[in-house]
Amino acid sequence: MTKKLQILEKFSGVCASGELCLYKNLIDQLQTEVSILQEQAQTDALTGLYNYRFFADVLPREMERAQRSLQPMSMIMIDIDHFKKFNDQWGHEVGNQALIHIAKLIHQTIRKLDIACRFGGEEFVVILPNTDLRQSIYVANRIREVIEDTCLRITTEDISITASLGVDEYRANHTDSLEGFIERVDAWLYQAKHLGRNRVMHPDLSVDVVVATNVTPDEKDALFNAFSERE
Ligand code: GH3
Ligand code: MG
Ligand code: MG
Repeated sequence: MTKKLQILEKFSGVCASGELCLYKNLIDQLQTEVSILQEQAQTDALTGLYNYRFFADVLPREMERAQRSLQPMSMIMIDIDHFKKFNDQWGHEVGNQALIHIAKLIHQTIRKLDIACRFGGEEFVVILPNTDLRQSIYVANRIREVIEDTCLRITTEDISITASLGVDEYRANHTDSLEGFIERVDAWLYQAKHLGRNRVMHPDLSVDVVVATNVTPDEKDALFNAFSERE
């Protein structure tokens, strides 16, 4: 077989129509490589959670969806307590293992539709589409508890870790920008640190924000699905 024929045989394949297509295998291979690269571009290499780039893409989309669908969305910011001291005591490599451990706990605790990202350093953020403040506080408390209750095991040592969390929601009647919303959540996280750490802080739930709307729950669901890009 000539070299040319060998190359043609390698690259060609049978298409869906049943016909032999030149370059079918090559195109399949390139498509696989593109999806691997896309995955890598949005993933934090250490923890496997979504990275900041992905977070910055998704947050404006979810805020817009909240505006259009009249369904609130929420955000939780999580910052590991005294992590500088942790690194000083246990070393940077164990610090990295702690970040992987915390990321896993967050991932295991949230629902499938929630989006967990590494915001940077020892900070994580969870976007909760279609979730109001009350529900997101419940999720944040679960995350805080599971972090406190699940030690990091290093050979014979069980190391306890805690985190502080800030929570807030975004509704159709909110007018703040993306940066404004992030600052709001960050301010609650700051409060959690200020009040002694290992706690969840959020706006007062007794101040219920009601958005006047004639949209029925079924219509809201239909709108939510129409804007949903995930399964
Ligand atoms: P606080 O309770 O106020 O949040 O205190 P903190 O020590 O956690 O906060 P600070 O911002 O002072 O320190 C954050 C530390 O996180 C310092 C930095 O070395 C560590 N850190 C950031 N990214 C990484 C990383 O990828 N791996 C490791 N091992 N450490 C990291
Ligand atoms: Mg921090
Ligand atoms: Mg910290």
